[in-house]
Amino acid sequence: MSFDKISRQLAGDTPGRTTELNYFRIGPADADKKVYLQAALHADEQPGILVLHHLLQLLRDADTAGELNARFVVFPMVNPLGMGDIEFGQHQGRYNRSTGVNHNRDWPVLYDAVGEELLTKLGVDADENLRQIRAALRNWVETLPQVTALDRWRQCLIGEACDADYVFDVHCDDDSLIHIFTLPQLAENMQQLANWTGAAATLLAEDSGGGSFDEVWPAIWLRLASECPDKPVPLPVVSCTLEYRGRFDTFDELNRRDAENLYGYFQEQGLIGGKPVGQKQEAPTPTDLRATEYLRAPQAGLLAYNVELGDRVEKGDRIADLIRLDGEGAFVERIPLLAGTSGLVISRKITKYVWANANVCKIVGSEILESRSGNLLSD
Ligand SMILES: [Zn+2]
Repeated sequence: MSFDKISRQLAGDTPGRTTELNYFRIGPADADKKVYLQAALHADEQPGILVLHHLLQLLRDADTAGELNARFVVFPMVNPLGMGDIEFGQHQGRYNRSTGVNHNRDWPVLYDAVGEELLTKLGVDADENLRQIRAALRNWVETLPQVTALDRWRQCLIGEACDADYVFDVHCDDDSLIHIFTLPQLAENMQQLANWTGAAATLLAEDSGGGSFDEVWPAIWLRLASECPDKPVPLPVVSCTLEYRGRFDTFDELNRRDAENLYGYFQEQGLIGGKPVGQKQEAPTPTDLRATEYLRAPQAGLLAYNVELGDRVEKGDRIADLIRLDGEGAFVERIPLLAGTSGLVISRKITKYVWANANVCKIVGSEILESRSGNLLSD
């Protein structure tokens, strides 16, 4: 049994700057399964911090009662660098200020790092292959550059996530219902997570195009399996991005129930024992991410929505009007924004002033859209 808080001091890139990164290791150190959870990788998305705050307490109690069958590594606020990104009284935190890179993009392609050396090592025993792949990943983590604070921070996260059986990256959208991004190969398991979390949608893509944190862990196993069809390579990683509603949905009771439901999922997975916690529902079945429309503004304007979250719309329905703010027709003309597919409205903008190409609504449909190819994410 253990409930250890680990505090890492990340030396900064300029004099006098050090960042404290706190996380927790909970449960029996020799447990076979490892669960990795992080919140606020996009540092401006806070509901997950409160969800994991409540989950920590549940895990602590379970550990004391000897009910944990897995090791849990929990980063309740994984991006302290981004928490410091305050400018003119506004917190940002989505992009690294020095590099301009979105914090949830460009995570490493693990196959490029260790794939080639593994091709010669894999054999006919699936368990042995699993050990070899994880050992190669752990060795590689030690070789990662350590020049900048960002390097040191990324290495810490990669080191903890690379050998985990479950990697859950907890985010939120703008004004939104709960939804999940994951790989098609994990759809069955993710249906269970959707049922427990009450997700309105589970969106599937093997590679959404951005090197998202959740996608890189299963990707190497799938790639090795396809490169070595005669060798047994398992898929031991259950991984997802879990969007806990919108950025203003940080409420104690709401997020406490979210934590209980997440705990219930882990119980159902056999990772935690004890009396059942949380409440399961019946969530919609997963759909292809390419069938979800990201409706965009053709120009700047003020949004007047015609739909609520959870509404079902038909293709051609008016989602919102965009009130013109300049030129001919300024403040008198409205530009209708029409649904390009039939489906469920799961997210809207929380601030109603938008500019050209801003994503104003996500509509979860069932038919793959021609407009959706290449990078499937919003930015
Ligand atoms: Zn995010």
